[in-house]
Amino acid sequence: MRYLEFAEACEQISEISKRLEIRAKLSELLRQLNREEMPAALYMLQGQLRPEYEGVELGAGDALVLKALALATVSEETALKQRVVALGDMGEAAFEARSKMSTEPTGKPALSILGTYEALSAITRISGEGSQESKIKVMADLLAQASPIEAKHLVRFLLGKLRLGVKEMTLLDALADIHGGTDPKAARIAIEEAFNVSSDLGEIGSLLSQGGLSALQRVSIRWGKPIRPMLAERERSLADVFERMGKEMALEYKYDGLRVQAHVSADRSVKLFSRRLEDLSAQFPDVAKALPDAFRELPVIVEGECVPVDLETGELRPFQDISRRRGRKYDLERMAEEVPVRLFLFDLLMRGEVSLLNTPYPERRTALETVTKRGERIDFATREVVSDVPSAEAFFQRALSDGCEGVVAKSLSAESRYKAGGRGFLWIKYKREYTTELGDTIDAVIVGAYRGRGKRSQWYGAFLMALYDPDRECFSTLCKVGTGFDEAALARLTEQLDRIAVPQKPASVETTFTPDLWVDPQIVLELRGAELSLSPVHSAASGLIREGYGLALRFPRFTGKFREDKGAADANTVREAVGFYNRQVRHVEAEPKP
Ligand code: AMP
Repeated sequence: MRYLEFAEACEQISEISKRLEIRAKLSELLRQLNREEMPAALYMLQGQLRPEYEGVELGAGDALVLKALALATVSEETALKQRVVALGDMGEAAFEARSKMSTEPTGKPALSILGTYEALSAITRISGEGSQESKIKVMADLLAQASPIEAKHLVRFLLGKLRLGVKEMTLLDALADIHGGTDPKAARIAIEEAFNVSSDLGEIGSLLSQGGLSALQRVSIRWGKPIRPMLAERERSLADVFERMGKEMALEYKYDGLRVQAHVSADRSVKLFSRRLEDLSAQFPDVAKALPDAFRELPVIVEGECVPVDLETGELRPFQDISRRRGRKYDLERMAEEVPVRLFLFDLLMRGEVSLLNTPYPERRTALETVTKRGERIDFATREVVSDVPSAEAFFQRALSDGCEGVVAKSLSAESRYKAGGRGFLWIKYKREYTTELGDTIDAVIVGAYRGRGKRSQWYGAFLMALYDPDRECFSTLCKVGTGFDEAALARLTEQLDRIAVPQKPASVETTFTPDLWVDPQIVLELRGAELSLSPVHSAASGLIREGYGLALRFPRFTGKFREDKGAADANTVREAVGFYNRQVRHVEAEPKP
């Protein structure tokens, strides 16, 4: 396929907001691709070149792309920059500059989707001395061959600002449309299950193109490829947890740290992945070093929570400590000494080369205890099998007094397989906060910010917060929050938000508010509030409880916890908020319409 057709399809998609229409357009586009083109297109539609967990980045900042564009369009850099500012988007400026050129692009053959993908990939491999110049040259060559619409999309891609609004799940829908035959629903389930283990849409697309649905059986857990983590449901009381689980269940401490999926190969290589599948290996050299000796057999893939601890006393330290180690590039060894951590293992996903994903939890846990040697850095999550509410309550109290945030109940049934990427009642979390009126903290996404006043005037001082609506793939607002932030938090947020600012309200954001700054929904904060009330002005869960009303969080306050482990789509959903609202002790009547 020519890159032009791809860019034109992207252009059309960027103008659609309805998920069903996006899906139809994607199916139409993907149907036309051959086996080699399929993975490239699937990655590029998400603004990537490789699956996200590989962390491959183009590393092309604004200045570099601007230089390349100036070269390719024989424009003056300063003049071009002015157009970028005026149009608010370098993509539009590229379109304009390319359109103004009287001649057609060079006599070279038209760009193909694969050729473009390869050239972009080549940029990521350039390093060392003179790498900036080389990158500019490759980019300029590509842009010189591009038509206006291709240039617009290439520039946006290079800057990492594609914003097509295409979500992974919609791509899976489109693949199911193509390969679903007479039963697209079953195909959709099979494709998602395979994706949850592979985490690589390119691999899924390529297998489907080669051998249809049956080829997906080749997807398996393996070293170096993170699987999407299993998630827990929640219940409001331990009695309710029992009701779900039956006569007996296991309770484990719910540690407040970072979830880590650790892959240890036969030759002792280690890779650590976060809940969002980012590679954390470099950030936790101490854990990576301790892991190979912690097992009687290799390879293994295990899961646990990495928690800051006082190595002298064995006491758990607050979550905030570990966030100092996350996302760092420098001083890694020093931080490892300053903030020592311990990995509390709770699951074994692969033993030898054998997947345990379909093995029930009790056998996985026994196998975990068989293969693991406990030590200073690696231990098991504390656990007990309980069969009545009083012993569950006693275990829960012990968890709290040991510094945990609650417990995770785990089903002991024969069906208790490891459900990659799934939230279900095989695991149920129960936290201390569930006993307060609102019942829980809420993870919400920043969609906009307001300038601070007085002492806070150098930062943004309040934030427009939203919940995710997966049915409509949009973010709808829940509250404005300006309480609970110290100066360091405001400074950090101001810097982060300026980096992800966008010129106008993103299409995926639904709100009646107009903040001083719009941002791409990316940053998730943990909030606490007095209660959820019906609101005529906030749009979260609009119409789900009462026509014309959404939900608002009253007296919201930032808890101090940046949920860096969560992406925007992992924030609480509007349906979860409806659940919280319904479970509130008393329902708060709507505030009057303004
Ligand atoms: P939440 O982040 O509130 O949705 O709670 C789920 C998280 O609890 C998981 O993603 C893990 O990071 C964490 N966790 C802590 N201890 C455990 C445990 N014993 N079993 C499973 N998850 C745990």
